[in-house]
Amino acid sequence: MSMFEDIPVDVGVIYEGERIRRNNMQIELGGPKQPAKFELVRAKKMDEIEDEKVTIIGPDLKDLPEGGNVPFGILIEVAGKAIEEDLEGVVERRIHEYCNFVEGIMHLNQRYDIWIRVSKKAFQKGLNSFTHVGKVLARLYKSELPFIEKIQITFITDPAKVKELHDQAMDVYEARDAKARGMKDDEVDTFYGCTLCQSFAPTHMCVITPQRYSNCGSISWFDGRASAQVDPKGPVFAIEKGEMLDAEKGEFSGINETIKQKTLGAVDRVWMYTGFGYPHTSCGCFEAMAFYIPEVEGYGIVDRGFKGVTVNGLPFSTLADSGAGGRQVDGFHGISIEYMRSPKFLEADGGWDRIVWMPQSVKDRVAEFMPETAKTNVATENDAKTVDELKVFLKEKNHPVLQRWTEEAEEVPEAEAEEAAEGTMFPVSTATVSAGGFKIIFKNAKIHAEKVIIKREKPKR
Ligand code: SF4
Repeated sequence: MSMFEDIPVDVGVIYEGERIRRNNMQIELGGPKQPAKFELVRAKKMDEIEDEKVTIIGPDLKDLPEGGNVPFGILIEVAGKAIEEDLEGVVERRIHEYCNFVEGIMHLNQRYDIWIRVSKKAFQKGLNSFTHVGKVLARLYKSELPFIEKIQITFITDPAKVKELHDQAMDVYEARDAKARGMKDDEVDTFYGCTLCQSFAPTHMCVITPQRYSNCGSISWFDGRASAQVDPKGPVFAIEKGEMLDAEKGEFSGINETIKQKTLGAVDRVWMYTGFGYPHTSCGCFEAMAFYIPEVEGYGIVDRGFKGVTVNGLPFSTLADSGAGGRQVDGFHGISIEYMRSPKFLEADGGWDRIVWMPQSVKDRVAEFMPETAKTNVATENDAKTVDELKVFLKEKNHPVLQRWTEEAEEVPEAEAEEAAEGTMFPVSTATVSAGGFKIIFKNAKIHAEKVIIKREKPKR
């Protein structure tokens, strides 16, 4: 008998990646419109849990308004002899995967940022109660993670209860994140890797170190250690650091060998503390994107929750697409908010001296960890809405990126340049032009120029 025979919809890995558009949704749970939403896993003692109990606080699926959007929370409590608090983060991250196995459910993001849709089709097939979802989750958890001996699941749609538990969940996330703060990458021999996101980003592997938190912001070095101990063959595993190849950029032989193996050779080199060269791969569930702004030679940061367009005129979604999918794209770098609190944050690129813009809400979240100078000279949407405004702001603040600007580039006397190049036709076999983070490659082109001005640029990093 199938494990899911009593569930009205199909369950399986083929439903991962299913997109549910607004017109096809029965209900939206959490998401950008809701200030409070969460998913949380807590470790409990064996006698504190009633196995496979599903509780619903507030209206059930069938009682929610068709096409509506409601506050939402999922609380999962687990127990077992091998279960400890450090496993909570890793167990929690699986909610995303297991919900997406259910036909007609789309689950995005994690922690305080979840966004779930249930399709009309699945609802009409009978997926009209959270009890079904709870049963699926409980069975998947117990079969896939055998260290879970007991599990109970609570779905919350009552707005006041969501808010109350959301606030408690935020404290739990903060306590988890704070645990590794102060530890240094140099002090450990083992890092941890996670390939959970390979289902949609096949060449992605998170390297989780004390000072470089996972991209999704849900798995710390301690969480990785606990998971690798109980489930060493699972998607979270130990990486022996091996030889340090470059201390500044953060290159280790053990990371290179592991990512090569885990991505079947597609990626074989990672520099952890930079967004250039061989940056850490970006999956798709990073909490924020660091994007290079060539005009000012600094990074902007934008998080998933920022609703407007950034200082370069692009929203989070467009910037995220530029780096996502498990790629290593120069200057488009997926990160977690917790990594911004780390002294290793983009250290090889100049760290905070290289950050020029970020949403005010992100600045507020990490302010405690920013150097005093950065607190005043990193612009937000309240200071600069365009790159030109940003330039003015950075000049006013005498931001450290000013030292990199090349406005005094030496010019070849124009007469000389014109003499050499006026009316010239250039045959070129291959020419590459880089601008704004994009590369344009001309092959076998003939370029006619009325005038060519040659300027010498100062070397950039
Ligand atoms: S972002 Fe990284 S740590 Fe988080 S689930 Fe994906 S691969 Fe794992």
